[in-house]
Amino acid sequence: MPSPARPVLSVVVPMFEEEDVLPLLVARLRPVLDGLGEAYEVVAVDDGSRDATPVLLASARRRWPQLRVLRLRANAGHQAAISAGLAAARGDWVVTLDADLQDPPEVVPQMLEAARAHDADVVYGVRTDRSADSAFKRHTARAFYAGMRAIGAKDAPDAAGDYRLMSRATVEAVNALPEEHRVLRLVVPALGFPSATVGYARAARAAGRSKYPLSRMVRLTVDSVTGFSLAPLRLATWFGLGGFVLAVGLLAYALVAKATGHTVAGWTSTVVIVAAFGALQLLSLGIMGEYVGRIYSTLQRRPSYYVAHDSLHETSAEHDPTVRAAQDGPDRPGARPEHARQDVPHRT
Ligand code: UDP
Ligand code: MG
Repeated sequence: MPSPARPVLSVVVPMFEEEDVLPLLVARLRPVLDGLGEAYEVVAVDDGSRDATPVLLASARRRWPQLRVLRLRANAGHQAAISAGLAAARGDWVVTLDADLQDPPEVVPQMLEAARAHDADVVYGVRTDRSADSAFKRHTARAFYAGMRAIGAKDAPDAAGDYRLMSRATVEAVNALPEEHRVLRLVVPALGFPSATVGYARAARAAGRSKYPLSRMVRLTVDSVTGFSLAPLRLATWFGLGGFVLAVGLLAYALVAKATGHTVAGWTSTVVIVAAFGALQLLSLGIMGEYVGRIYSTLQRRPSYYVAHDSLHETSAEHDPTVRAAQDGPDRPGARPEHARQDVPHRT
């Protein structure tokens, strides 16, 4: 059981099907946290894994009382899983880090130290060395941050991912945001809390494969852009205005050509123009649709994750439900005892 008193530090670790890396993570993270000499909890957010992750977490928990397991009912995605962890974390300070050891746990004490020394509410882990990342990942990441700064998220520190330390005040501010699909690496800087940075070398994934295929990277980019800027909507307006001016010019040209007896330019150019405008209109509609979709989902207020179970609410006399659930098949309804269930939906 984690100590009932509020810990000084919470470490939130989102994980989706990380059975390969989990033993390595426990072996690296635990000595660092034990060495801090402060009360802590680790909030492992199991983002609906269907592999052995829940079983491994349950067995790790028997040996590591500070480990707390928050299981989400279904895969909610990296950002929503972190949000779930932030809402559950109880520490005065909260660190979020990836499960795959790309964010070295040894930096956590430096982050705490930097926060205290500089009186900062947020300490960003900044990647000073990304040589372990693929060239594709490095280039897309650089383009992402440059693009986001250009369209409005000016405070986003370069090369800062989701490895960061936040004070209780910052976490409360994040939890209070009503916005869906929040992209934390942009939302947190925008809150404007005093911050510091700690550099670290981004390691290669310790085991397993990336859970961020291109489609998810695109989704994150769309969430970032639409969450932070109205520029694309204005772009649609500019397309529309430019198109209108061009159309008027073409009309004048056609009229003059007719009056002076010249034949109007041929069929091909007409088709090209119609097609080009069709494409611009569809593009503009698509951009609007992205924002309208967000308005709709905000109105629906459907939670972006559901907590199935939080090991904090077990009593020590109870049989560990996660183990039984995992043996029975983690997704079988009723695999967990009724009183340990937490079907309360949470919003990010
Ligand atoms: N992750 C998650 N839910 C998902 C996808 C990923 O909780 O739907 C976790 C994953 O287990 C890892 C972190 O998010 O701890 C970052 O994912 P990953 O390392 O696969 O991304 P990459 O480093 O390749 O961008
Ligand atoms: Mg990774």
